[in-house]
Amino acid sequence: MNKVTLLKGDGIGPEIIASVQKIFKYLDVPVVFEEQLLGRDALQATGQLLPAKTMDSIRENKVVLKAPYQTEVATGFRSVNVSLRQIFNLFANIRPIKTLVPGISHHEDIDIVILRENTEDLYIGKENVIVENEEVEAIKRITRTASTKIIEYAFAYAKTHNRKKITCVHKANILKESDGLFLKVFKETALKYPNIIVNDLIVDNAAMQLVMNPNQFDIMVMPNLYGDILSDLASGLVGGLGLAPSANIGTEFALFEACHGCAPDIAGKGIANPTAIILSACMMLDHLDLKQQSEQIKKAVYTALSTEGLTLDLGGKLDTKQFTKKIITCL
Ligand code: ATP
Repeated sequence: MNKVTLLKGDGIGPEIIASVQKIFKYLDVPVVFEEQLLGRDALQATGQLLPAKTMDSIRENKVVLKAPYQTEVATGFRSVNVSLRQIFNLFANIRPIKTLVPGISHHEDIDIVILRENTEDLYIGKENVIVENEEVEAIKRITRTASTKIIEYAFAYAKTHNRKKITCVHKANILKESDGLFLKVFKETALKYPNIIVNDLIVDNAAMQLVMNPNQFDIMVMPNLYGDILSDLASGLVGGLGLAPSANIGTEFALFEACHGCAPDIAGKGIANPTAIILSACMMLDHLDLKQQSEQIKKAVYTALSTEGLTLDLGGKLDTKQFTKKIITCL
């Protein structure tokens, strides 16, 4: 039996995690979830945002399924989502952007993997107030070590997944030192992999190209913030955030979560699309070498998405529970 730390999240988190649990139970998937607290609930119960018990559980199990936790805008505590990635050195954020079934996507045959550096950049959260209310600086940290890790990961990923091309996204025309270093590491690394086609694009151009001609992209590798923004944009090309899974991978630990946030606008209504977290759970099953169960669930999700009866975000009328039931009937 595989033990996995389960973090149920805020907002729509518990609603979409329930879908995964129902599907796993129906299929008798050999995974035991060890539920732990994080964020606001943890603070109330234990006085800590990141309780020692939760950290110990992750250290022991090494694999986490996590729903999104709320991060307040312009106030409040630091994002616990970001903290976990940094504490467990989950340096690679893998975000597949794929046309799941024809009709839902705005484009056909999209199959892009966005590889987002996950531990540094503006996400180190260092902001200096120079003059209160008047002048603030934010520090963007780019290191050779972290850049090399994600870029080497991109080339290794291309080899193991039979992908042909890697595009590096940056803003090195303006950020000549920081993004310049990221691009330099990319170009140096590319020399070791002559069979892989490489190019680089400035992030604003990459955003436009993604909208106009997404099929030109295969793997895209980029620093943290551009990865956040472009993966939300790219998810919009294939049906929206409700369909976009992700994996956060390090050398020792792995954490699987949907690309979306906790969607406070629809929380508690029972209408969230559970697809992104279910597909993230499938990425987790692949990681645990439970490929047969992963394939079976993915096939059922694609079938459910290709027939009448979808969730609200996809123009349908089904709520989370009804859509989960539909997936289970497709298993
Ligand atoms: P974060 O910065 O924490 O990633 P965000 O600001 O990007 O969060 P989300 O919580 O991801 O915001 O929500 C963005 C929009 O997408 C909201 O309108 C939300 O309702 C919608 N959304 C997100 N996830 C889902 C889902 N699973 N099903 C349906 N709609 C969703």
